[in-house]
Order: sequence, then structure tokens, then C-alpha cells
Amino acid sequence: MIRIGAHCSMKSPLYLEGSVNEALSYDANALMIYTGPPQNTKRSPLEALHIERARELMRQHGMTMDAMVVHAPYIINLGNSVNPSTYDLAINFLRMEIERVQCIGAKYIVLHPGSHTTGSFEDGVRYIIDGLNQILKPSDTIMILLETMAGKGSEIGKNLETLKWIKDHVHLSDHIGFCVDTCHMHDGGYDLSNVDQWIDTLDATLGLTHIPVMHINDSKNPCGSHKDRHANIGKGYIGFTTLYRIVNHPRLEHVIKILETPYIDGNPPYGAEIKALRSNDPNALPEGGA
Ligand code: FE
Ligand code: FE
Ligand code: ZN
Repeated sequence: MIRIGAHCSMKSPLYLEGSVNEALSYDANALMIYTGPPQNTKRSPLEALHIERARELMRQHGMTMDAMVVHAPYIINLGNSVNPSTYDLAINFLRMEIERVQCIGAKYIVLHPGSHTTGSFEDGVRYIIDGLNQILKPSDTIMILLETMAGKGSEIGKNLETLKWIKDHVHLSDHIGFCVDTCHMHDGGYDLSNVDQWIDTLDATLGLTHIPVMHINDSKNPCGSHKDRHANIGKGYIGFTTLYRIVNHPRLEHVIKILETPYIDGNPPYGAEIKALRSNDPNALPEGGA
């Protein structure tokens, strides 16, 4: 069975329980959350998050805890070799996030590898590897999933080989996997239109078994634009047919698919987009959107 869901909010008063309810309202069987505002370090205490209620709700609907994917906050930049305080904050905060996610009982933490800013690309990669080596513990139950990036600014991770290199140089590399974002890869210069060939490329570089999660987004820009602007499903340069084939491809059956497409007139498009992607029915897609 295909597992597909969307980015869901986590907010007062129901927190995680509300996130699972939101996913269920889209007829989803997976979801992705941030454990707090992605742009800052303020976090509600674990006791406030309704963890048990959320887990019970998932159980009732046949979802295992790995279907609750967590995205690490953007403020974490392990690739910054020039500003020690940014780097220290990234290390400390990612370690705290791991502890929180392990208390919640989720398994996958999606992480943007980092941006090298004014430092060199090579130093950025080295700092990411060193950082992950400082952060990970053998007793950890989570996996960090390095996300494929569009290559906006000095973002590291637009090439699959770089992501593989990082995993291979982390001592506890069993705790490292990958999250493939369709918009980011297209913007990063990979052609997704021949889906089988693209999957072969993923398998040859990263290994399909090391890709437990994908972000399914269309793109507002042509291949190789390095922009990272997500479009609604079927409204961008990747197109419905390709995204449908990716979501339903037998070689990607094990992959949890998460939509991060933009809201349309203030409303989440996810229920309709999930329905369209499951049923190969572009007519089910929401009106409007871009
Ligand atoms: Fe991301
Ligand atoms: Fe993404
Ligand atoms: Zn993006």
C-alpha cells in the first residue's frame, strides 16, 4: 500500500494529536511535522504535545510511528565553517531535536545538509560530517535523512554524490539516510521526466533502500534553475504524469511520500492532491494554485 501524506501543522491546543487529525482529514496515511517554529529555537515542553493521544490515533488508523516524519528547523546549518556560534547552535539544537523526536517515538528526521555561506564548499562538507559525528550516538533510534537540495545560494546537497559522500564519512552511517525532494532535484538539474532512468540514478548513487522518504512537489521553474519554489501538483514544470508515476512506482513502494505544496487561497490543497495522485485522476486536483 502506498503511504502518502503532507506537511501538517503542530499547534496549541492539541499539538501532535491535532497534526494526526489534520493528516486524517486529507485521507493521508503519513504526515510530516516540525517540532516547533522552524525559524527559531522555542519549543513547547514534551508534556504539552499530546504524544500518547497522537500515537493512539495513529494506531487506530493503522499507521506505524515511522509514518510521522519530522523536519528539522531551517536555523540548523551544519555547513557554516565561518561562524562558530552558528555552528555550535546547530550542533546543540540538532542534538536536542533528536532527544525530542525520540521521546515522541518518531523515526525519521529530515535535515537540510547546510549552506557553506562565505566559506568553501569543501569546508562546508567537512563541517557537516564533523557535526554529525559529534551529534549522533550509537544508542540513537532515529535516522537523519539528508534532503536533496535545489542549490539555491550556497546550499550543499544538490548533487547526489555529495550526499552519499557525507553518509559514507559519518562514523554511525547506519543512522544516515536520504530524503529526495522532487522539486529540489528538478531545480538542481536532474531530469525527472524519464522516471525509470531517474530511479536508476537514485539507486546507483544513494541506493533506494536508503531513501525512506520523498517530498513530492511540482516546481515553478525549469530544470536546473536552482530556485526552490514549490508548485502545486500538476501546475509546474514537472507535471502530473511524472509525479503520479513517481508516487505509484513499484520500486518506490517502500517510500513514504510527503507533499509540501503551497496553500491555495489560504486552504491546504493536500486532500485533493493526494486523491489525484492515488487515483491517477488529474481532474481531482484543486482549482487554482500555481
Ligand atoms: Fe526541506
Ligand atoms: Fe522538501
Ligand atoms: Zn523546498
